[in-house]
This record gives sequence, structure tokens and C-alpha cells, in this order.
Amino acid sequence: MDLVEFQGKQLFGRNGVPVPPAGSVCHTVDEIVAAAEQHLGDGHGAVVVKAQVKTGGRGKAGGVKLATTVEEAREHAESILGLDIKGHVVRVVYVEPASDIEEEYYLSVMHDRVGKGHLVICSREGGVDIEEVNRTNPEAVVKRTLTPHETTDGLAADTARKIVTQAGFPAEVVASAADLLVRLFAAYQAEDATLAEINPLIRRPDDAVIALDAKVSLDGNAAFRHDGYAEWDLEGLDADDPLEAEARAKGIQYVKLDGTVGVLGNGAGLVMATLDVVAQSGGRAANFLDVGGGASADAMAESLALVLKDPAVKSVFINIFGGITRGEEVAAGIIEATNRLGDFPQKLVVRLDGTNAEEGRQMLLAADLAQVVAAETMQEAASTAVALADQS
Ligand code: GDP
Ligand code: MN
Repeated sequence: MDLVEFQGKQLFGRNGVPVPPAGSVCHTVDEIVAAAEQHLGDGHGAVVVKAQVKTGGRGKAGGVKLATTVEEAREHAESILGLDIKGHVVRVVYVEPASDIEEEYYLSVMHDRVGKGHLVICSREGGVDIEEVNRTNPEAVVKRTLTPHETTDGLAADTARKIVTQAGFPAEVVASAADLLVRLFAAYQAEDATLAEINPLIRRPDDAVIALDAKVSLDGNAAFRHDGYAEWDLEGLDADDPLEAEARAKGIQYVKLDGTVGVLGNGAGLVMATLDVVAQSGGRAANFLDVGGGASADAMAESLALVLKDPAVKSVFINIFGGITRGEEVAAGIIEATNRLGDFPQKLVVRLDGTNAEEGRQMLLAADLAQVVAAETMQEAASTAVALADQS
């Protein structure tokens, strides 16, 4: 099981491996802005906005950016959320107080399948592609396999010191880097990791040595010793659907399914009931989207635009029971969305009930939209939507 960076840092932190000051885990632009505001307000000169995906090379792909103002953080939030990094869509972002970097090193521990022990790799040249350093300047990379005998009581301080010295770490940081390696190895053993990689391990201007990045893999065979690693099971991480990421960024509840009828409703209960009637009518939902209570015309338009972006959607079932959300708001949203989107091939089957439903229906009728099909009941709406989806 692979952890994302902020989880790796949490795991390091609780095992005494020094990491930057704790940051904030965010899912939306607003959350990122609020986190930046908080950390900058706490006196940190800058924050770093970091995509949390289970792949490396985030920096090169534009998924790691520094911000010294809240406005800058907002721009980064907008560019990073939804970004596709080697097929991983960014849905979670970590906002961390930025660290000042004097030098960047590399340090990792991993299972050595060949040597049947643990392999420590350490280099004075980090922050870059370690394979590349190994190729062009192999003497800058120390590779040391530790025998099981050497590690029954953890990694000896003396061994750690030899490794970092051999890797050419400057005298000022040898002691702290060696201490960090001992702790990293202890963390790796205690947590049943198969990999614990720090790239870059940095030296700050005050000579403190800390893990600026964290890549940790846990041993699936040891999951039973750790409650199945449930604590790391982050919902919503690394989805491969870009629309889900967009919805999350906008605070819209959206789930991708595998059918052809787009479903848009208000309230989780009604949305679930809508999925059921679609199924009873012999159709399958392509997605479902809950516009929530008190949806404004704008939120409605945005939600509809999102549903229609899914190429699998052949028809849309809009099922609204007006409460706080009033019929006219819903109608205005549908009209707004149709104007905004221009020509689209899908029909929108609309069933309005509850507060000011009649007013809403009248508005839709007056707007005379080619795409809109009105329905009286949920059942009728479902079978119409399914039939329309089947036809196209
Ligand atoms: P990766 O590209 O996925 O490996 O992501 P990293 O977490 O390693 O970040 C990439 C690079 O961004 C690092 O090598 C640093 O040069 C830079 N970076 C990341 N965090 C900070 C920070 O807090 N301060 C500064 N100055 N640079 C950072
Ligand atoms: Mn890195």
C-alpha cells in the first residue's frame, strides 16, 4: 500500500523523523486559500501547495508551487486541483509552511529482495532524479545492504554515521543526518514499510536536517498487524475521473457510475430514490449529482454543465423536490445552463415538485427550450429519460 506525501510525513513525524511544520489537507480552492491564510498569518513567509498523488515527479508536472501571498495560493490551487499527473488526477492538496533550503540530499530504505535484507541508499545529491545521479556520478550514491543480523536491534548509530559520511554529507550535518537515518530505519521497521524514501532530505540554513518529501510503501502482508492500514485509507484519493475532481473542487457532490442516464437531484435521499426508479425503468445511471439544499440558479447551472460534460450521458433526469430550493431557482438554473452551454444533444427530463414547483414549470414552458422535456411523476420521468438514452 502506497501512502501519499502528507501521510508519509505523518508516519515520519510520529516516529521522530524530523519533518516541516504540519500543514493542511485540502480538497477545494476555498480550503487551500483558508489554509494559506492561516499559515501565512502564523508568521510563515511562504507556503508550498503540493498535489497529493501516488506518483513522483509532481514538481516537474506543475504540482508543487510556492506562494508568498493568499492570492498566489489561490492561483496555484486552481491550477493544481484537477491537474493530471501521469494519469493521476489531483483531488487532494497539502498546504505546508515552506522550508528554506540550503542543500538537497537523498535518503531511502527499502526491502532488498536480492540481498534478503534492507538496502539503504544515501546521496549528497538529492532533489533530482537519483537514477540519473547514479548513472552520471555513481560514487555520489552510497548503497549499503544491511544484514538481518545488523538490524535486529535497529540500525546502530555508528553504522548510520558511516553511511552519511561516505555519502559526502558536510561535517556540520553528519550527526543530525545520521540520527535521522536511525529514526527513519526504526520507523520503517515499526510500521512494516517496504520503502521509506526522502527526496529531498534538506539542510536548512540553520543546519537542521528534515524530510521535505516522503514516499512510503507499507507491506500488504503485514496489514493484519496494523488494523488493515485503515488509518491510511483516504477516501477520494487518486480518482481517475477528472469530473469528480472538478466537482470536488467546486464543492459539488458528484459520483461517476457506468450507465447512460445523468441523474441530478437535491438531497441524498432523493438522489438514491432516483437511481432506483431509473433501474426499475430498465436504465442505468451514468453518474449522480446532488445539488444539495438551497441550490441557487448558479449552482444548478454549474451542476448541469458538469453532468453534461460526461460523454457517457445520453439523457439527463433532473429530479427536484423543492424545499428550501424553490422551483423558480431550479428553472432559472436550467435556463441559464442551456443558454451557457448552447447546443447540446442530450434531452433534459425535468420533474419538479414541492415549493413553487408550478412557477418553475411555467418558467420552463415559457422559455420553450428544445432540450427540456417536462414530466409529472418520478416514474414517468425515469422511463422517459431511459427511453431517450436508449434511442441516442
Ligand atoms: P516531487 O517533485 O514529487 O518529488 O515533489 P517534492 O516534494 O520533492 O518537491 C519538488 C521540489 O520542490 C523539491 O525538490 C524542492 O526543490 C521544491 N520544494 C518543495 N517544497 C519546498 C519548500 O518547502 N521550500 C522550497 N524552497 N522548495 C520546496
Ligand atoms: Mn520529491
